[in-house]
Amino acid sequence: MPNYAEYFMRRMRLFMVGFLLASVAASAATEVAPLAAAPGAYLFRNVRIWDGRSDAPYAGEVLIVGNRIQSLSHAGIAPAPGLHPVAIDGGGRVLTPGFIDAHVHMSSVLTRQEAQEADPVYVAALEIRGAEQALLRGFTTQRDVAGAVFGLKRAIDAGYVVGPRIYAAGAALSQTAGHGDDRHYIDPPRRLGGGLTLEERTGMTTIADGVPEVLAAARDQMGHGAAMLKVMASGGAASEFDPIEVLEYTPEELRAAVEVAASFGTYVTVHSYNSASTRRAIEAGVRCIEHGHLVDEPTMRLIAERGIFLSTNVVVYEVPPPGISETQRAKFLQVRAATDAMMNLAKKYHVKLGFGTDLVFGLEQMARQSREFTLRARWFSPVEILRQATSGNAELLAMSGRRNPYPGKLGVIEEGAYADILLINGEPLQDITLLEHPDVALALIMKDGRIYKNQLSSAGAAH
Ligand SMILES: [Zn+2]
Repeated sequence: MPNYAEYFMRRMRLFMVGFLLASVAASAATEVAPLAAAPGAYLFRNVRIWDGRSDAPYAGEVLIVGNRIQSLSHAGIAPAPGLHPVAIDGGGRVLTPGFIDAHVHMSSVLTRQEAQEADPVYVAALEIRGAEQALLRGFTTQRDVAGAVFGLKRAIDAGYVVGPRIYAAGAALSQTAGHGDDRHYIDPPRRLGGGLTLEERTGMTTIADGVPEVLAAARDQMGHGAAMLKVMASGGAASEFDPIEVLEYTPEELRAAVEVAASFGTYVTVHSYNSASTRRAIEAGVRCIEHGHLVDEPTMRLIAERGIFLSTNVVVYEVPPPGISETQRAKFLQVRAATDAMMNLAKKYHVKLGFGTDLVFGLEQMARQSREFTLRARWFSPVEILRQATSGNAELLAMSGRRNPYPGKLGVIEEGAYADILLINGEPLQDITLLEHPDVALALIMKDGRIYKNQLSSAGAAH
């Protein structure tokens, strides 16, 4: 019978081998810089700066020193005496902040069926590969709202492997028979001696019922280093046994999670699709709603009035994922049909709208990440979508408060901000759909002052 010691050892082994695989994964990629390359100083010249907020870009220069933007200017920048930055001629391209995805699951690299019997080393290798691919799509930061990614984050931050910054929730809290309870009919319940579910063993979710268990599970995630807590507050599409309109967790249980998060200086976000679950979560002090596709107009108005973030996703509902049941397919179609109304309401009430994708069950699914840009063009202008994916999402990330793993400015091109920067081929502020093809669209990718892709020539040290 699986127990926590065994589970812990599995995860330990998984990440230790992950470190060894790092060099293999990195050397296999064509456009990933040496792992240990220290950030230096770079001067971007001949670029049009889109700073993450403004309506249009302006011609200028950007000076990077270490992992920060040191200065930017409409005119030329004269570096301090003794500083010899590498000059990069942007050829008039648009320079933007790195993209942020507000809703990912970086450890969901296999279907549930495949995960049942997967070698942990194989899983780790795919997670590392997936992280690198996300960075090469221009996503320099990702908010992981369920999954065992603390080790992956640590390895990326330490420079052993290549990937985005990660804001991790750790395992999402779910009630029994909630969205995170993936038992089968034949599995006995926990109170009758049942063991951990697959999602619990792999660190995706943790089942907690009643206030004492919710407190303990919430503290577990905070203890592991969570940047925020994720709680399953309604039925969901990818689960088998909970219809979308179900309310999950009592107000007391939700408040317990909010109290733990507040004690640690951060916030709770909830998986919530329907109006009643969303209102209950907001009244309990939750500050962000994931999904929200089925909320009605009064609830959307409440989200706006309270300044709650709506971290939603479109691309995941474009094509049904492989291997789902008829129940799941019906729920998938129900949510997809509601997406248009939700986006129109969110727009009408000027809701703070996160840019997320929620692609799970494999790297092929995650490869559709950049399509979110194209799909949002149905409701929003290019600059609105770009704001969602940069400065808007950064505002959501900053809600992690004292648990913010990267407390500098993100999602903007401003003095002192982290040097997460993209140079784009073409005119994304006119045609957002070109970002759907990052291989072609992205000329340069910098994260934390390090360059991971560069199609441009460097003119040597600038003087
Ligand atoms: Zn999700």
